[in-house]
Amino acid sequence: MTAAPPDATAKSFTPRLLVCDLLYTGMGGAQSPGGVVVVGDTVAATGHPDALRASYPQATEETVGGIIAPPPVNAHTHLDMSAYAFQALPYFRWLPEIVVAQRGKRGVPGALAGADELARLGTGGVGDIVWSPDVMDALLAREDLGGVLYFEVLGAFPERAETTFAAMRERVEAWRRRERPGGPRIGLSPHTPYTVSHRLMKLVTDYAAGEGLPVQIHVAEHPSEPALFATGAGPLWEHRLPGFWPETFAEVIGRPPEPELTPVRYLDELGALAARPTLIHMVNVTQGDLVRVARAGCAVVSCPRSNHHLDCGTFPWAAVAAAGIEIALGTDSVASGESLDVREDVAFARRVYPDLDPRVLVRAAVKGGHRVLGGRVPVIRRGELWLESYRWS
Ligand SMILES: [Zn+2]
Repeated sequence: MTAAPPDATAKSFTPRLLVCDLLYTGMGGAQSPGGVVVVGDTVAATGHPDALRASYPQATEETVGGIIAPPPVNAHTHLDMSAYAFQALPYFRWLPEIVVAQRGKRGVPGALAGADELARLGTGGVGDIVWSPDVMDALLAREDLGGVLYFEVLGAFPERAETTFAAMRERVEAWRRRERPGGPRIGLSPHTPYTVSHRLMKLVTDYAAGEGLPVQIHVAEHPSEPALFATGAGPLWEHRLPGFWPETFAEVIGRPPEPELTPVRYLDELGALAARPTLIHMVNVTQGDLVRVARAGCAVVSCPRSNHHLDCGTFPWAAVAAAGIEIALGTDSVASGESLDVREDVAFARRVYPDLDPRVLVRAAVKGGHRVLGGRVPVIRRGELWLESYRWS
């Protein structure tokens, strides 16, 4: 038996006190400043640095600054667009000039590169919108991807809803048989309230509610979306792709647009919120919308950089939080979010919301994200393994 050099053994058991600007352990609220005492590779204590200095006077102190927290969750992205080049453009230019123009870059290679990037970043989980079956097959096979893969459903013609739903259901049942403990789960994403007919939206959300499947829906991303529900017209309708829409918007939603109708109210009155979908973006919403979302128990995901780059407006964080709604963070695709690192959205949000306590943002990125994906929140506490990836910067 070879004995370890005595000084190396002694060193590894000298407590280290890591002092940071903001500590979130995964439990309760975050604290600022914070500290973690690490002995060997194990967490011995967490708390205020002064209290830890008093309890561990022999500890070697390291000022690490920044944030110590469990890895953040990227609760909304489109990994199959990870090969796209990022460009900030107003929404109605971004769609044709980036999404459509680079559609040849969308698919399995991009999705796998995106999954590699999430693994490199040490992301705590992902909520990914999957547009094509081959991407679902590829991502479902990834052992290192935790979270939910939401299969995206589109179709604005109500008369085609049953056919689209039947095909989707067959695929979803086959994929669910391939789910493994610890691996990604299957979810569903009816794309938006205006690109999915009322009949298809109801079929998909009823099915998801009955099967306990997680759901994400993009809602109220751009100001033109509530305008469409109020008037049946406007820029969103004018920019629609030919061949993908019925004659009128009223046919899509199965009711006439009216001044007080919003995308959220429409989903609520349709019964779609009963599936407790996670609502993505929610930038252009009313107070009445927030009451409905809170009552339904839906969480929301904000993508701060993407909303800014596409000129969609600013997510009303304080009003959403005040309504008692769980908030998580996502990057959206790299084509609008610029990167898959949700920590950069936390940093960006600190500038967008200077009056918001940064501890709230970090908690949203960790706990909010795990709530959305249905996963267990990892905690930094006495007796748990210390991971260097808990240092965000
Ligand atoms: Zn999205």
